[in-house]
Amino acid sequence: MRVILLGPPGAGKGTQVERLAKHLKVSRVSSGDLFREHTQKNTELGVLAKSYMGRGALVPDDVTIKMVMNWVNAPEQAKGFVLDGFPRTLGQATALDQALAEKGGIDKVLYIMVPREDLVVRLSGRMICRSCQTPYNIRDSQPKKEGKCDKCGGQLYQREDDKPEAVRKRLEVYTNETEPLADYYRSRGLLEEVDGNRSIEDVGQALARLVAA
Ligand SMILES: [Zn+2]
Repeated sequence: MRVILLGPPGAGKGTQVERLAKHLKVSRVSSGDLFREHTQKNTELGVLAKSYMGRGALVPDDVTIKMVMNWVNAPEQAKGFVLDGFPRTLGQATALDQALAEKGGIDKVLYIMVPREDLVVRLSGRMICRSCQTPYNIRDSQPKKEGKCDKCGGQLYQREDDKPEAVRKRLEVYTNETEPLADYYRSRGLLEEVDGNRSIEDVGQALARLVAA
């Protein structure tokens, strides 16, 4: 089973991707994981990616795709895989399709849907400890004492990135990038949408059912 999991920031994609990979008994990867691995190991692709990131530029699609295809073509992934938030652009999606054509292509694209305003609430509820960086969330992991870290007593604060206005911008960027992708996979009959406005357990079960079908 070759699966892509898409979902906006705050939809709980990280948790679900782990669960889904375990359920399918395959590995999962995100392009961020591959960037880290390649740059740490100083591979040719890693050095190339670093040269772009060092200039504050985006890593070009062909570099990212090469990293993903190296991983996908490894013997460990013969039984399948879950791609976490990749592809991100239509260009990456078509390149991935071409690269996987011989293997039979992607089987399913699962899209966790959460209404934008709920995501704003979820994401802007995040607080971080100034001293030890432990994250808290007013939704499901509140500190015992308001504004104080349970672990070290440090002061909790909200990152600029997590303020509602910034969150709205992040979500807008995500939607603009992802909607064309969703349309692309929908038109190919591969897209399955999942209501992400439920418990982690319920969303997990819904995803598991979709890959069993
Ligand atoms: Zn702390």
